[in-house]
Amino acid sequence: MIWLLPLVVVGGLFVPLLGYLVLLMMITLLILAYFRGRFWCWHLCPRGAFLDLVLAKFSLKKKIPRLFTKPPVRWAIFALFMLAFTFQLITADKTWLAFGVVFVRMCLVTTLIAIFIGIPINQRAWCAICPMGTLQGKINSCSRRKK
Ligand code: SF4
Repeated sequence: MIWLLPLVVVGGLFVPLLGYLVLLMMITLLILAYFRGRFWCWHLCPRGAFLDLVLAKFSLKKKIPRLFTKPPVRWAIFALFMLAFTFQLITADKTWLAFGVVFVRMCLVTTLIAIFIGIPINQRAWCAICPMGTLQGKINSCSRRKK
């Protein structure tokens, strides 16, 4: 699945409709989260694979700061991400192409952040604060409470 990441963040710059792959992945991971927890993160996520297979070679592999794992911090980042995402969707032209650009941009920016913190800290530092990871954890804890 690692190939999906360059396909979106590089290919998407030329073919914005590739951004819809991000939407497809988001839907898939949310469904999986309900039944299998963070299965997506450990087995399918293209960015997770990139972080483990590529970024790990350049990372200092330090301990992930405890601050990153604190729920208020993770939910604040989630809220920030959703605000930025929603703002872009609202202000974009109402075309399929423009929405595709939004998905590509969000994927590109979050990947750059993952690289930016992954090298000096730990390759999986982003995963501690990833909004999709936070959401998967929440969905899974809710589904377990229901069972
Ligand atoms: S936490 Fe986010 S980036 Fe990391 S593996 Fe999960 S979905 Fe992918």
